[in-house]
Amino acid sequence: MLSDERRDELKERQSPHGLSVDEYRRLGHILVDQTADLLASIPDQKLKGSCDPETVWEALGDTAIPEQGEDAEVVLSEAVSLMSEHSLFNGHPKFWGYITSSPAPIGILGDLLASATNPNCGGWMLSPMASSMEMQTVQWIAELMGYPTPCGGLLVSGGNVANILGLFAARVSAVGKEVRETGVAGRQCAVYASSATHTWIQKAVDLSGLGTESIRYIPIDDEERMRADALAEQIKTDVENGVTPIAVVVTSGTVSTGAVDPIREIYAICREHGIWLHVDGAYGAPAAALPEADPDLKALRLADSVALDPHKWLYSPLEAGCLIVKDKQTLLDAFSYRPPYYWEDSGEEGKTDFFEFGIQNSRGFRALKVWLGLKQAGREGCIESIRQDIDLTKAMADALDAEPEIEVFSRRLSIVTFRWKPAGFAGCEEDMNRLTQAIMDEMFESGDAYVSHAVQNGMLQMRACIVNINTKLADVEALPGIVCQLGQAVMDSGVWSEPGE
Ligand SMILES: *Cc1c(COP(=O)(O)O)cnc(C)c1O
Repeated sequence: MLSDERRDELKERQSPHGLSVDEYRRLGHILVDQTADLLASIPDQKLKGSCDPETVWEALGDTAIPEQGEDAEVVLSEAVSLMSEHSLFNGHPKFWGYITSSPAPIGILGDLLASATNPNCGGWMLSPMASSMEMQTVQWIAELMGYPTPCGGLLVSGGNVANILGLFAARVSAVGKEVRETGVAGRQCAVYASSATHTWIQKAVDLSGLGTESIRYIPIDDEERMRADALAEQIKTDVENGVTPIAVVVTSGTVSTGAVDPIREIYAICREHGIWLHVDGAYGAPAAALPEADPDLKALRLADSVALDPHKWLYSPLEAGCLIVKDKQTLLDAFSYRPPYYWEDSGEEGKTDFFEFGIQNSRGFRALKVWLGLKQAGREGCIESIRQDIDLTKAMADALDAEPEIEVFSRRLSIVTFRWKPAGFAGCEEDMNRLTQAIMDEMFESGDAYVSHAVQNGMLQMRACIVNINTKLADVEALPGIVCQLGQAVMDSGVWSEPGE
């Protein structure tokens, strides 16, 4: 029995987690203003790539959990200043590292609305509108890329998980549903992917019980594309030896240089053997929307499954990945369990219980920020934003190329790779790699721009990837000057010539 006192308290319950609606409104307005100020200030900031752990932990305070709570306004303003002062802003117009896009502002607001409504997109009945919007988002993405609809699919945390789920669907399709009971036990399986494939594939075969030895890394050509002849050869050998092919994984836009595998040719090989074709389009898939896109990029429509990242080339704030499959039944075959403590599947048209289609149970409303972006821009707007990135990358590559001391190596999609090599440089290739590394270190230190690296044939290259709605022409045209200046400073200091580790 609760005491009377406790009963009285609970009548007008005050949760330590609560805020009155008025307080929520007031703090929300302050926060929106602060984030607007932050967004406005980012272009004039240095890219703080060099934040060291000591500085960060000093600001954060390595303390135990607070015993007593604090005023929400104080806590929020502390978070705003910690994040404003110690973040690497991928929305900075000169941020071109990895494949990490700037957040579309409407997506930021979408996350607020998603949290305020807080639908659980695991079950349709817990999130009728949100789950329907997720279903619609998946179809819209497919339509944008020219993938046949209606299709199946769902939103997940990112490219890794989208690809991993795709491989699970392929596994069940290849060896049958009983693999979910028996495991792959003793069966020899193979997954084919080029040697330029992103590291998700190792996690996928590991998690699915196939093991990393099941990966057949197919060699690539000079353009970093999978060699279809080598693939055909490897499949033939495996099949002759009683190995079961699970999937051929092609990449549409490799992480390093944006290469697109020859999907049309590879599709023919898959057809011949009845092998699942999976496209890792985490980066490049949305660019299939462009009328002028590489025919092999557009050929992703042939695949059984496509993974892509709305948090890359659809500019959604993190996290948003997406897996699309031709036949939604394949996802149910791979993931569905219906325990007795869940509701019956009504089988009604227009309903999807997303918990059955992937590994998550409770699910947030990731789709909203993607849906909003697609609706704000429309098909034409999506094409234009991507085309702007690609054209700015061309302008950047041209500007780099025009500099006699800069060598440009590859330019594909929105990635350009290059290095600075002064006239008369006498060192060997290893020295050049050290020099390139030293220039990149200087760039992180200076915060003038942010690029990451690529390694091609043992050569270290700087790599700029524009997936950034805030980048403008002047930003890309400033890069050669920044590189040359940093390069000269490094040469003068002699740092580069110190023995490497
Ligand atoms: C980014 C990327 C991934 C991984 O996606 P995450 O969203 O980081 O999990 C996988 N493959 C390719 C080709 C990528 O570009």
